[in-house]
Amino acid sequence: MTDTETFLDGLFDAGVLIDTGVEGLYARSGRFEAIIEGIDAVVSAVGGGDGAEVLRFPPGMNRQVFEKTGYMKNFPQLAGTVHCFCGDDAGHAEIIAALDEGRDWAGQQALSEIALTPAACYPLYPLAARRGPLPEDGRLFDILSYCFRHEPSKEATRMQMFRMREFVRMGTPDDVMAFRERWIERGAGIVKTLGLEGAVDLANDPFFGRAGRILKNNQRQQNLKFEMLIPVESQEKPTACMSFNYHQDHFGTLWGLKTADGAVAHTACVGFGMERLALALLKVHGLSADRWPAPVRKVLGV
Ligand code: 5GP
Ligand code: ZN
Repeated sequence: MTDTETFLDGLFDAGVLIDTGVEGLYARSGRFEAIIEGIDAVVSAVGGGDGAEVLRFPPGMNRQVFEKTGYMKNFPQLAGTVHCFCGDDAGHAEIIAALDEGRDWAGQQALSEIALTPAACYPLYPLAARRGPLPEDGRLFDILSYCFRHEPSKEATRMQMFRMREFVRMGTPDDVMAFRERWIERGAGIVKTLGLEGAVDLANDPFFGRAGRILKNNQRQQNLKFEMLIPVESQEKPTACMSFNYHQDHFGTLWGLKTADGAVAHTACVGFGMERLALALLKVHGLSADRWPAPVRKVLGV
């Protein structure tokens, strides 16, 4: 990498990620995927003994669930929805004409039943609530989804499509707070195992607009969100590579999720930004995994 080259340019030049012409949308090389698989295995090794139920989601979710979750109200700037053509021959002809003339053809597109998943755990809550009240000791899920957030950027760490692995705990306030505490400690252990340096800090989500400022403040004042920050793009602005979220009774109330004794369930989740962790490794240890420290290679299997 030359001095003027960005981290992303270096990743392209080394063939680790491959440019698609859209910022934040990249093809992954086999070398990159091997690192992702290694991180996935490390996370599984740490959390695997807890008896979590495994679910893997497609990158799209039920749009009605997406709407009810409030994403379109709170983060309209990040949301992505799937639109499809449901018209007739005249509509088809209009699309062809618009394409040939380089005009906007979106007028022939209608909102579909599917929205792009913005956070891996959003599709989970209604599925869990449908099963009825939680068992006595609550529930624990191990989930993964490709997520979408519309934030095109030249920073490798800000992708529009990326994978989020999560553990999600549902139960009493004590259950879910203990879960989050345990994962903050475990997260620090994972960072150390990977030969990285990170720090946990209080955070907030990028709620939109003026009304969003109040929501941001509430989230911070109530210590609802912590992030594991690791320097990747720069030392001054470290990157959130994990997040530890306490939702209080927000999703429990929204979806009618109850504990065994009929109280509204509380929930918490820990999220691992898979690409961001891989990029942190590539930044700190270099673009060739075969030259990484032996213990790090061993734990990742690369
Ligand atoms: P959160 O829901 O807390 O914003 O995101 C959970 C985790 O997903 C973050 O801690 C981070 O690791 C990852 N993440 C969030 N936004 C992005 C992004 O734009 N690109 C990538 N690659 N990962 C992200
Ligand atoms: Zn979550």
